[in-house]
Amino acid sequence: MTLPQQRPQGSPGPLDILRKTYGYDSFRGPQAEIIDHVIAGKNAFVLMPTGGGKSLCYQIPSLVRDGVGIIISPLIALMQDQVEALKQLGIRAAALNSAMPPDQQRQTERMLVEGEIDMVYVAPERLLMDDFQRLIDNAQIALFAIDEAHCMSQWGHDFRPHYAQLSQLAERFPNIPRIALTATADAPTRRDIVNFLQLQDGGSFVSGFDRPNIHYTIAVKDSAKQQILAFIKNNHAKDSGIVYCLSRQSVDDTAAWLCEEGFKALPYHAGLSADVRAKNQQKFLREEKIIMVATIAFGMGIDKPDVRFVAHMNIPKNIEAYYQETGRAGRDGLPANAFMVYGLNDSAMQRNFIEQSNAPDQQKRIEHQKLNALLGLCEAAHCRRQVILEYFGDKAKPCGNCDTCMSPPETFDGTVAAQKALSCVYRTGQRFGVSYVIDVLLGKADERMKKFGHDQITTFNIGGEYSKSEWQGIFRQLVALNLLAVDVAEHGGLFITPAGQAFLKEKMPVKLRKQETRKEARKALMKKEAEDFYGQEMNQPLFDALREARMVLAKEQNVPPYVIFHDKTLREMAVFKPTSRSALMEISGMGERKMDRYGQIFLDVIRKHG
Ligand code: ADP
Ligand code: ZN
Repeated sequence: MTLPQQRPQGSPGPLDILRKTYGYDSFRGPQAEIIDHVIAGKNAFVLMPTGGGKSLCYQIPSLVRDGVGIIISPLIALMQDQVEALKQLGIRAAALNSAMPPDQQRQTERMLVEGEIDMVYVAPERLLMDDFQRLIDNAQIALFAIDEAHCMSQWGHDFRPHYAQLSQLAERFPNIPRIALTATADAPTRRDIVNFLQLQDGGSFVSGFDRPNIHYTIAVKDSAKQQILAFIKNNHAKDSGIVYCLSRQSVDDTAAWLCEEGFKALPYHAGLSADVRAKNQQKFLREEKIIMVATIAFGMGIDKPDVRFVAHMNIPKNIEAYYQETGRAGRDGLPANAFMVYGLNDSAMQRNFIEQSNAPDQQKRIEHQKLNALLGLCEAAHCRRQVILEYFGDKAKPCGNCDTCMSPPETFDGTVAAQKALSCVYRTGQRFGVSYVIDVLLGKADERMKKFGHDQITTFNIGGEYSKSEWQGIFRQLVALNLLAVDVAEHGGLFITPAGQAFLKEKMPVKLRKQETRKEARKALMKKEAEDFYGQEMNQPLFDALREARMVLAKEQNVPPYVIFHDKTLREMAVFKPTSRSALMEISGMGERKMDRYGQIFLDVIRKHG
């Protein structure tokens, strides 16, 4: 049904569309190449970090190619906002899903067949229905875009059975280009996507994973709540952000507590009713300065561009999850923060989850290794970004935009300390937790210790050169280095790993990071100001006034503010203060349609406050 297509002479090409419709100057990274490839009718696999600009890779080909682009997206609740964002640009887009009134569905179906729309967003369930497939047979289809394609794979963390069935597309519509997009990196997931969608002959476009605008900080946990509070107060008092917690209970507690502290915080977890979740999500998207406190149930498909921070009260299960979650910050490219607090209990908890899962042993071993890599990131004495990117197979230089780059931790020769720690674990029988072993090292005998005779062993009272908290830091690092491990089945007893045994035998040297003091941990906060982002001062009152004008428009139309303009667009206005239509047109994100609708309103605000 689809023929190779050629753009008719004189009709706009990708770059014209980018500039006139979207108001952007130039393509980013591999966008141009991917777009040309898909316009030529070829299949593609696109792996790009969150915020990398995946949407344009299927939107522009949908506009250039004849027919309608069918976008498969897992989240019905978010489709309407995606469609709304396109409509604001003057693009004819619609959604088709079971949440819509039947007559509206029929109208969209009619427009699809008549070729009156450019793009339609559908859930996979819909796409697989016979009725819908017959409908497509009668329509001209520009392409299929499979967004969040990792949902196809059982290896991915968001497996959806309907997504797996999308493998039918290749057989049923062999001549329509398929473009699969994801930000999830791991190899088995990638392999599944390529196999299921038969993309072997298509192009594979894998971008670097770096998110240079995100600043990473990982602090040693002393009081998670106070640390998170200080972080938000010092850096993000007026911003939207996400705080991730491990349990529903701690989500509820933390949200309530942040509200007491004067923030607008909302809870989100699977234990809340669907209604409450939808309402809280909607608020997060529609209003400003909301903090979403959530379990990992929250976040997929949220393309709110101005999430300024993501904070973790506990470590997630691996680096992939950490990167995915922190990646929800700063999609607009403006500076954003990822802040995590971490302690030894966290790793014990994650080990427990792995052990208690129903996964086969082989899988559990992999999960443990992935957790080890995350602990390595937490204890890294060099650039965090380097550790992350190297984990994904990318080479990187020290970034200058993470806590360890900005204030490099001091290291010391920890060989003797490690030897003492390991032999004390050994001599106490490899079944006691960290506190007990430290007490032995520090010679703090109590009744229990005397009963076991541990006040008589050779490692009793040999650790006086370090304080209790310094020893805690040492033990945490020895666990992260996998010389010691916590036996989760045995009440958190420490034992020596094979690597630890080798270390003792071969007397290898080991470098450890000095313990940060509490004060330093608090100070290790950062924000590259938006001002130096543009190399110019931003007029804050003007920015606030522009935000207000945007909120009025958003409320009138019942859409999220960022659908009208991104923060980035408003910030540029507040820096460059354009006063003519042609100057305003130069601002990033100002397309022709938005100029027509809103140009005058924002020019007036700039004249009044600028
Ligand atoms: P992804 O789906 O990969 O997470 P999006 O497609 O949502 O990313 O794009 C992230 C942000 O970057 C969006 O706000 C988008 O409008 C913007 N963007 C994408 N491509 C460009 C570009 N070439 N120039 C400027 N901004 C862009
Ligand atoms: Zn760095």
